[in-house]
Amino acid sequence: MLITKTVSKTYEVTFYPYVLPEMTWGEFRESREKNGINSSKFKKRFCCNHAFADDERVIVISVSSIGNRFACKACLAREKDGAK
Ligand SMILES: [Zn+2]
Repeated sequence: MLITKTVSKTYEVTFYPYVLPEMTWGEFRESREKNGINSSKFKKRFCCNHAFADDERVIVISVSSIGNRFACKACLAREKDGAK
């Protein structure tokens, strides 16, 4: 038998929008590929779980107990609006 449980976790996320200014997902992925570095853990936006489009800007975030990930512009805007 299979039992599936969904565990919900809360993370503290800090946005660093100035770390990679104007960097797109495509540019990031290609620069990593050139160096043979896997970028699968950055592939999805940590904030809302969608995959990035190649021409979409990535926003560096720091996630508690996980490390650096990417968020999207929409989530940065929500952060600026003071949404928790
Ligand atoms: Zn997002």
